Amino acid sequence: GAGFIGSHLCEQLISNGEEVICVDNLYTGKKSNIDKLINNSKFELLRHDITFPLYIEVDRIFNLACPASPVSYQNDPVQTIKTNVHGSINMLGLAKRLNVRILQTSTSEVYGDPEQHPQKESYWGNVNPIGKRACYDEGKRAAETLFFDYFRQYKLDIKVVRIFNTYGPLMSINDGRVITNFIYQALMNKPITVNGSGDQTRSFCYVDDMVDGLIKMMNNDNFTGPINLGNPQEIKIIDLAKEIIDLVNSKSNIIFTDFPEDDPLRRKPDISLANKVLDWKPLSERKNGLLKTIESIKQQLDLNKS
Ligand code: UDP
Repeated sequence: GAGFIGSHLCEQLISNGEEVICVDNLYTGKKSNIDKLINNSKFELLRHDITFPLYIEVDRIFNLACPASPVSYQNDPVQTIKTNVHGSINMLGLAKRLNVRILQTSTSEVYGDPEQHPQKESYWGNVNPIGKRACYDEGKRAAETLFFDYFRQYKLDIKVVRIFNTYGPLMSINDGRVITNFIYQALMNKPITVNGSGDQTRSFCYVDDMVDGLIKMMNNDNFTGPINLGNPQEIKIIDLAKEIIDLVNSKSNIIFTDFPEDDPLRRKPDISLANKVLDWKPLSERKNGLLKTIESIKQQLDLNKS
């Protein structure tokens, strides 16, 4: 709840009139992300690591626990897979005891380096089970298995959402994500580090659109998922670098660095299912979203003074 997407979700739920217990071990989440909420009587922060059981009373559970950037999830891979497996078992156990709905935020990483493009929910993926990304990819795949086994075995009310690359204000500047890296480098007029040739693609969804999709899925009474949420507008990483240099009006040049192990070459969600079942599609334009993200990073770096 104190992570990037989680903190935006908490804020939206509170403004919808809900009461929220935000559970976070603050491994990558930050108290500063929930500063605005901390004095709200409908909001509570519970510092807890979900790899240990949790006994609280709630009506619904969103599970967003897990470092999500390759740099942070590879920093402690054993803890990453434990968060996905033990953490999911504990949260599913909590949902089962309370007989409440639980939504798992899965990931486009379950598709690995995809051989189908764009990726539909019916695609089973192409994942290296022993690579450096496996703690996250296979962890999230095992979590999906657990959710569907609890559904089949105990009739638990589950939801599984596959989140594609998401960006916006409150992303950590130093977790190695491409958008934050490029914006930081551009603001500092430092070289922009494009991994490999930059021909690999991603499709970036603004966080407000993502939160809207998560809440719509939680409120849907008929469909378990899995369902893709993301923005299908695909861009090459090299073009993203140029776009950010332009928006920041930066003097940075582009340098090419090594291509990371198992880095997917293409990624773009097919969101026709979300469109049909949830009447959802992303509304934000990338340029507007990037400008808001640039502003938030400037604030974090205190660059607005000059
Ligand atoms: N990337 C890059 N330069 C950076 C950080 C990332 O070229 O400084 C690339 C990375 O190799 C990948 C893409 O940008 O191809 C997206 O990386 P990110 O870590 O944001 O997320 P991923 O989609 O790989 O989980």
